[in-house]
This record gives sequence, structure tokens and C-alpha cells, in this order.
Amino acid sequence: MQILENISLRPFNTFGIDAKARFFASFKETEELEELLTSDLKSNGTRLRTLVLGGGSNILFTKDFEGLVLKNEISGIKVLHEDSEYLYIKAGAGENWHQFVLHCIERNWGGVENLSLIPGNVGASPMQNIGAYGVELDDVFWDLEAYHVNDKKLVTFTRSDCEFGYRESVFKKKLKDQFIILNVTFQLRKNPRLNTGYGAIEEELEKMGVKVLNIKAISDAVIRIRTSKLPKPAEVGNAGSFFKNPTVSKAQFSLLKSKFENIIGHENIEGTIKLAAGWLIEQCGPVSGTSWKGFRRGDAGCHAKQALVLVNYGNAQGKEIYNLSEEILQSVKEKFGITLEREVNII
Ligand SMILES: Cc1cc2nc3c(=O)[nH]c(=O)nc-3n(C[C@H](O)[C@H](O)[C@H](O)COP(=O)(O)OP(=O)(O)OC[C@H]3O[C@@H](n4cnc5c(N)ncnc54)[C@H](O)[C@@H]3O)c2cc1C
Repeated sequence: MQILENISLRPFNTFGIDAKARFFASFKETEELEELLTSDLKSNGTRLRTLVLGGGSNILFTKDFEGLVLKNEISGIKVLHEDSEYLYIKAGAGENWHQFVLHCIERNWGGVENLSLIPGNVGASPMQNIGAYGVELDDVFWDLEAYHVNDKKLVTFTRSDCEFGYRESVFKKKLKDQFIILNVTFQLRKNPRLNTGYGAIEEELEKMGVKVLNIKAISDAVIRIRTSKLPKPAEVGNAGSFFKNPTVSKAQFSLLKSKFENIIGHENIEGTIKLAAGWLIEQCGPVSGTSWKGFRRGDAGCHAKQALVLVNYGNAQGKEIYNLSEEILQSVKEKFGITLEREVNII
């Protein structure tokens, strides 16, 4: 176990921001984490702040981190037990999410196929209840084990303890920065239920000429759609959707629709309307009559195909991306009276 000093975080975040960590260490086991948390690293006599990092695909560093960055590398995937319908699969927080999905697909364990190709690690998946193509982590989550940073003890969180919501969990709200997730257990189906009803999955399956519909075909379709739509972080720095899709009441939506007839909204189960943040952003721009979509200032910009994705074309600083996000937020507020919320974690 090695503690490194003044390390560039550029290789550790998909935005490719060149912020520095005062200290940096990785851990593969709980005991190593415990040791790191009790090490007497201090700054100006006070204990250092810690930041746990997975794949760095949902984080924006706006400044150097004057504490200890802990890279979670706990690995392992195993079947805990099974019943007639389900398998209970425990995965280490440091497992790559997409590799975990592929592992499940190979064995015909159903439930995570629609979540194919989401970057990042298993440990961060409950943080914002990752979701895509009609499925959220919440749908397959069983429980997780996490380490309390101050109390130095292990705690198990069931599904209800996690208080999952749309890109939300208790770990982003009242328990923020208190726990380090060590492993997650998933409840996966032995006889998968296929979910093709969302987005362009069916259309893609048709294009692929799929004869036998199974979870592998769905995963392949999702991968094809995602690859055609989203910029690859290895080519252009980004963290996926920068903002959440805002929710409004039906009455608010009707009012908006009367002013902006093309506004895009989808009804949530509870009867509210989720607006497409990408569309709202596209309708606004740095000056009247222009659009943020495809906008670039220096190396910070808004992706040309998907306005919801902010990008680093090379050497943008985190602050520049953040400032651009603030301008976008203000312009959407001015035009539509809606305050966007950032999905990406700002450091
Ligand atoms: C191209 C692209 C597409 C994306 N598409 C989607 C999508 O479709 N749906 C979706 O939901 N997200 C999407 N994302 C966002 C991102 O992939 C997810 O949020 C992912 O779960 C982040 O995982 P990570 O390991 O990279 O987290 P990190 O960025 O490393 O961390 C994110 C946050 O979680 C905390 N954290 C990380 N690991 C732990 C842990 N073990 N214990 C406690 N806290 C922890 C960090 O401190 C940080 O606050 C996309 C991102 C990109 C770049």
C-alpha cells in the first residue's frame, strides 16, 4: 500500500481535468482502507478530507483536492445464494460496471442488460441510482456494505435504506461523504424478463436483424445506440449527462406547452412530467438566437450531438466547464423559468 503525493488526477477522471490530489492511494481490501483512514496524514495539523474515486466518470474537479483521494479497487463477483426465481450476486465496488454487466449476460442472469456500457465502477452505481433505457439500479439492487469513515464500522444498507430516487440516493443527500461503498449485491433473474419498450431499442433490434430475442441482443442494441449517440471519454473528455432532466407538474407542463409547443416531456409513474433537459438547453444560447448545442469556448464546450453533455476538448480547466454550466443554467432559467440541477458531482 503506497501513499503518493501531488498526483495529477487527469488519468482518473473521464473529463480529463488536470487537477492534483495532495495524497493518493488505492485499496483492494477493507483492511487496507482501514489502515489508510487511520494513517496520520494531516494538513495544517488537522486530519485530511478524503474522496473516494471509482472510474471518475461522474465527477468534475474545479480545483486541486487538498486531501487524500482513495481509489477503490475491491474486486470479485460471486453468487451468494439463489432461490427458484433469483440469483443474488455480490460484486466488489472496484469492478468495472460494464464488465460486470457482460459477466451477467454471459451467464444469462437477467436485469442489468439495459444498463450496458455505462462507464464507471460497481461501487458508484448506487450513489446516483444509475439508469438508462427504462431500467434503474433500484430495479436489481438487493443490498450493499459500506464503511463509515468516522465511526470506522461496516454497515449494511437495504434497498429502502438507500432512499433511491431519480439519479439520487441517501449517499448524495443526508449521508453525503460519510460512507465508502465496499460491495453491492444484486438480485438477478434466472429467467430474464426482456425490456425493449424504451427509447430506440426495438428499432435497433430490427436493424440488427435479431431473430432470437435475449438479454445479449438487448445489450448489443443498447451498446450500438449509446456508441452512436454519446462521445467516448477516451476521445473527448466528458461525464455523460451534466444535468438531470427536471420534473414539473402537469399544470406547469400545460403552461409551458402553450408557450413552447415543441417542448419534450414524458409522464412519470406518479403523474408528474419529466422534461428533456437537452431540449431546453438546445433552445438557449450564449446570445439570443444562438444555441448552446455545439458551442465551444477555448477547450470547454457543449457536445454537437447532445446538448446535455458538456465536454473538454483537451486542456479545459474544471472551473471553465463549471462556469459554462452556470451560464447554461441561468439561460434556461431565464427562458423557461426552470432551474436545472447538476447530475455530475462537483469537487
Ligand atoms: C459517456 C458517459 C455516459 C454515461 N451514461 C450514464 C447513464 O446512462 N446513466 C447513468 O446513470 N450515468 C451515466 N453516466 C455517469 C456515470 O457513468 C455514472 O454515474 C457512474 O455510476 C459513475 O461511476 P464512477 O465509478 O465513475 O464514479 P466516480 O465518478 O468515480 O464517482 C462518482 C461519485 O461517487 C462517489 N463514489 C465513487 N465510488 C464510491 C464508493 N465506492 N463509495 C462511496 N462513494 C463513491 C465519488 O466520491 C463521487 O462523488 C455516464 C458517464 C459518461 C462519461
